[in-house]
Amino acid sequence: MKVAIIGMGLVGRILAWRLHETDQNIQINLFDQYDRHYYGTGLIAAAMVAPHTEVPNTEAIVKDLGEHSFQLWKDWLPALAQKMQQPLNFQQNGTLVIAHPQDESDWQRFQIKACVADIDAENMQVLDQEQLISIEPELAQTFPRALYFPNEGVVDNQALYPALNDYFDQEKNIYWYENTRIEDIKALSQDYDKVFDCRGNGASKDLKNFRSVRGEVARVIAPEVNISRAIRLVHPRFPLYIAPRKNDEYIIGATQIESDIDTPVTIRSGLELLSALYSLHQGFGEAQIVEFLVGLRPTFDDNLPKIDVGEKIVSINGLYRHGYLFAPILINDLLNKLLGDDADIHFPQFIND
Ligand SMILES: Cc1cc2nc3c(=O)[nH]c(=O)nc-3n(C[C@H](O)[C@H](O)[C@H](O)COP(=O)(O)OP(=O)(O)OC[C@H]3O[C@@H](n4cnc5c(N)ncnc54)[C@H](O)[C@@H]3O)c2cc1C
Repeated sequence: MKVAIIGMGLVGRILAWRLHETDQNIQINLFDQYDRHYYGTGLIAAAMVAPHTEVPNTEAIVKDLGEHSFQLWKDWLPALAQKMQQPLNFQQNGTLVIAHPQDESDWQRFQIKACVADIDAENMQVLDQEQLISIEPELAQTFPRALYFPNEGVVDNQALYPALNDYFDQEKNIYWYENTRIEDIKALSQDYDKVFDCRGNGASKDLKNFRSVRGEVARVIAPEVNISRAIRLVHPRFPLYIAPRKNDEYIIGATQIESDIDTPVTIRSGLELLSALYSLHQGFGEAQIVEFLVGLRPTFDDNLPKIDVGEKIVSINGLYRHGYLFAPILINDLLNKLLGDDADIHFPQFIND
């Protein structure tokens, strides 16, 4: 069997990796319009796997999809790290949700929405200041309490992408065509048994009810800050998250703007992100701004993903702000559909055939 994967962003990479792990005899040709070091949306992402803290502001199904993906990341990343002899951290310290005292009512609303979405006591706890001191002492100075969602994590995408580059080089039957933009997928499909369209925003012209949602993040290095888990600041105008990385680095995000323009970050967005950040921990005042980055989230009108399985062409798109949260379980389901057993598909509603 010979397949092509068009688009080596987050979805294309995970698909190629999992397909090869499922059947090493399949020849997989990878195509991307840029080279393997391209800093696309999947690398710009904070890469939080947040099935519970995403729910209050989005569709309820996010919880179930995200919980499955969380488990898959836990299984898959150590196996890849061992195979590639590279550290691949999946930080699983959970997420804290905090708000300034003047925004207490928004924080309470967040908690109520989480309860309504069936986030139970195992997945959400209210911490008082003393409990907060015991897990995140530097935040407890400013915040008298927090909501703690222990079963969430952050993927180290800065390590995952290079590890997958090496994996694709190392494994037999995988060939990568870099800097190769595919204009006509139908024509290409004549040479293959299956072609997987994973172009994200690059597929926009071929899709109905599709849009892009612009997101801006800042990367900062803050030696005076010690935060070890993902943080969400509930704020009526400038909600913010912080995803910690190695070596005092933090990803600060993210704006959410209905636009398909990926021009550099605006002054307004930069000011909003950094002001909210400084209000959270004064140690960020001395942080160095490494860069501001912009990505476009590929999104359908219902903000949910879609997999269209045609005779030759399979399209996987619309992962919106949930690429890390959705891709593992969706790709697992798709591979069960194509190569495995229908009984092992968890979310058939996302697969149209
Ligand atoms: C600021 C920001 C923060 C985010 N944070 C999170 C988060 O914390 N957690 C989470 O789960 N998700 C997050 N996301 C969402 C996640 O990044 C996306 O859902 C994911 O990257 C979508 O993956 P994709 O493979 O569909 O698209 P992409 O990752 O954009 O990949 C598409 C690839 O296709 C290639 N391509 C396009 N057209 C062609 C063509 N014609 N020929 C060849 N190649 C082509 C592109 O070069 C690209 O490499 C965030 C997104 C943004 C912007």
